[in-house]
Amino acid sequence: MSQPAVFLDRDGTINEEMGYINHLSRFRLLPQAVPAIRRLNAAGVKVVVVTNQSGAARGYFPAALVDEVHGHLKQLLAAGGAQLDGIYTCLHGPADGCACRKPRPALMEQAARDLDLDLARSYLVGDRYKDVETAANAGAKGILVLTGYGRGEYEYLQAAARVQPVHVAGDLLEAVEWILQDLGKI
Ligand SMILES: [Mg+2]
Ligand SMILES: [Zn+2]
Repeated sequence: MSQPAVFLDRDGTINEEMGYINHLSRFRLLPQAVPAIRRLNAAGVKVVVVTNQSGAARGYFPAALVDEVHGHLKQLLAAGGAQLDGIYTCLHGPADGCACRKPRPALMEQAARDLDLDLARSYLVGDRYKDVETAANAGAKGILVLTGYGRGEYEYLQAAARVQPVHVAGDLLEAVEWILQDLGKI
């Protein structure tokens, strides 16, 4: 039977929003990332990162850097006893018209097929209304975190947003605690 999952945006949600991560040295985990993901692991909830990384398509860095960053991310999480069930990345630019660039739902749909996930009972946590829209487009629930771009998005874009989140959380750990309660896991 397909199961619910927690999808996570990357920049501004798991790691510090730094603009383009055009070098490994610019990748810094947010302090709540390891405990939040470990909490989901312990509850038996699948955790999947969905991220737009158009920097290589724009010519800012080689596409291989994205893999390098994700290898580093996995290592940092593993060192804290946390792990991801998948990382799904859109490497296209905005003008490419691909099906996977958020707010389009193809990354989440692909993960759902690969991992047998029930999107209607799943969540996407992100720091932008674009993430909240992605969740809605996939038939999942969007949660906005106030890290990264989140505080500014919430303060200045909330009124104009086409889709509102089911919950607004201070950071990823608070979001995860809310989700686990919503899922009836605590
Ligand atoms: Mg983000
Ligand atoms: Zn794409």
